Amino acid sequence: MEAANQWVCDLVPYEPGKPIEETARELGLAPEDIIKLASNENPLGPSPKAKEAMIAEVDYAHLYPDGGGYKLRSALAQKHDVEFENVVLGNGSNEIIELLCHSFLKPGVSLIAAEHAFVVYKLMATLFGADYIEVPDPGFVHDLDAMADAITPETRLVFIANPNNPTGTLVKQAEIDRFIDRLPDHVVAVFDEAYYEFLEEAPDTLRYVREGRNVCVMRTFSKAQGLSALRIGYGFAPPHIAGLLNRSRQPFNANAIAQAAALAAINDQEHIEATVQNNKEGIAFFENAFEQRNWEFIPSHANFVLVKVGDGDHVFQELLKKGVIVRAMRGYKLPEWVRISVGTPSQNQRCLQELDALLSDF
Ligand SMILES: *Cc1c(COP(=O)(O)O)cnc(C)c1O
Repeated sequence: MEAANQWVCDLVPYEPGKPIEETARELGLAPEDIIKLASNENPLGPSPKAKEAMIAEVDYAHLYPDGGGYKLRSALAQKHDVEFENVVLGNGSNEIIELLCHSFLKPGVSLIAAEHAFVVYKLMATLFGADYIEVPDPGFVHDLDAMADAITPETRLVFIANPNNPTGTLVKQAEIDRFIDRLPDHVVAVFDEAYYEFLEEAPDTLRYVREGRNVCVMRTFSKAQGLSALRIGYGFAPPHIAGLLNRSRQPFNANAIAQAAALAAINDQEHIEATVQNNKEGIAFFENAFEQRNWEFIPSHANFVLVKVGDGDHVFQELLKKGVIVRAMRGYKLPEWVRISVGTPSQNQRCLQELDALLSDF
């Protein structure tokens, strides 16, 4: 349509992991026979404490949520040793990405990200009519020196997914420190830490929030806490940036049931530990299996593994017929790879068995 913004017309829609119900419908399978290892969800389900809190909150569904998110923001501030003013809630951390773009992007300015970075950054840059600068990531690791080199007077945002999705790679503290030292005043560095809870040695980026640098650190309840369906994420930023993000959001962007669930999930240490342990074992299971079979993979710091299977679309389709949903990677310019999220031990085994059957002569 002619009246529309050209950059919206040009947008290639985000392709999510294939839902279980849709797969069941299309293939005539029973939903309970299908396993989804496609969206880095928590195979242990939601935090039980969050579940209880959600049920209790249902009685108040006729009331608008606390748009200021007082309880949840206070709890996040306390837990992470930052100020209340440093915390911004989002409808998933994906919305924090959008709020950053609302605040800083327009036609003529640019967003920088790594070549194999999370695809939503590119979608958002495009949606706001801004330029998207993609920096090569040798070995699938963000090259922060090259990303700093790529900054121009027009650059406003640099996104660092740490660990990155879909590669699972991590950049370390020393590289981050060097990058922040080189960051010019007109640019905000965004650390997307959706998989933070899975890290054994997490780099400290919150120190830059406390120091008032031009940074935003994004995290989410979608992964380790198992609350993807609720759409609740958060950002930490110094007040001069958090204030902009708060102005850019809808008044009730984080719904009440999600806020209540998140508040309970923060301190459900038992569930987080079980999740992290299951993940550690699952990653080891897949990586050992791939090593034995001589299949190339990228060692992962997150809750998924990227593995080279030849024809990724074919493997995706064939696994689908067996009721195993993984993620094809053509959209990431990785047509030979699939990304597999860690499931329960039995789900992991079933996935590997089906892969073995498919790839025995690969
Ligand atoms: C999953 C993921 C997110 C989180 O998305 P939500 O909107 O919080 O569900 C953000 N960034 C990356 C890199 C992710 O993989």
